[in-house]
Amino acid sequence: MRELRFVITPFCNYKCFFCHSESITDKIALYLSPSDYEFMAKVTKDQLGWSTCTLTGGEPLISPIFKEVCEKIKNLGIAITVVTNASLLARPTEMLKDIAQINVAVHTMSPDIYEQIIQVNYPLENVLSTIVDIRAKFPKLAIHLNYTVIKGLNDSSVDFERFIKFAKKIKAKAKFIDLSTIDNTLRTEALEIVRQLEGLGFEVKGENPWQYFLSRKTEEVQVVKCPFNGKYEDLPVRDVFVEPNGVLYRSFGGYLAVNALNEIKSRNAIGLLQKINVLLDRGGS
Ligand code: SF4
Repeated sequence: MRELRFVITPFCNYKCFFCHSESITDKIALYLSPSDYEFMAKVTKDQLGWSTCTLTGGEPLISPIFKEVCEKIKNLGIAITVVTNASLLARPTEMLKDIAQINVAVHTMSPDIYEQIIQVNYPLENVLSTIVDIRAKFPKLAIHLNYTVIKGLNDSSVDFERFIKFAKKIKAKAKFIDLSTIDNTLRTEALEIVRQLEGLGFEVKGENPWQYFLSRKTEEVQVVKCPFNGKYEDLPVRDVFVEPNGVLYRSFGGYLAVNALNEIKSRNAIGLLQKINVLLDRGGS
């Protein structure tokens, strides 16, 4: 199913060297209010049947409107996923009660490599213990652990195995993602990651245009194609991202953006749907 992916802030407390901030490279103005996000979520739920949405960034927990946006969207009966580095989830609060799923960027099980990736002083062990703590307190929360594969840095089979075992231990989904970067020497394509996992005994059990599903006995992993990798421009359009300034763009299908700020602010549902349809003109699910 498609969904809206709200980039509610372009800012982050990490400085990952490969960060694409969901494709936002400039410091853009922040215009959208919690009611604006509620309006978009309601229109796409009522008119397109989109029953989930994702809050991303940057680090969405930095946003001062994060909590209010979650409350408003949850009240529409829409399941929320939050993409986070987990550093601000250190004390799980009632906030997580409004969330159906968290996607946590882990990227390695090696503290040294983690530091090299995030470029700030926040220990990996804190992130891992936070995730364990969250699992204990929120047994029904879906947890996906994201591992962006960087050639020559975190792509050892030993690190892969430790990550897969940690994910299994806390009943999380392990997702390997290929890196989107202009530096080709750092990139391992999704299919190469699949081949490496097959070398560890995994078998491909299914796939769609955007990801592969693999398993090994009771362990399951996914390999996900990064929507911002220019190599995947011919894939069907998937989701619609919303920047904080009301610009919408699509994942996959080649970069295309439209400005819907006027339609959002004037509560013009028909106009908003027309803008979304401009982005969705290349098929998909
Ligand atoms: S945690 Fe995510 S948003 Fe933050 S710098 Fe790293 S990749 Fe970018």
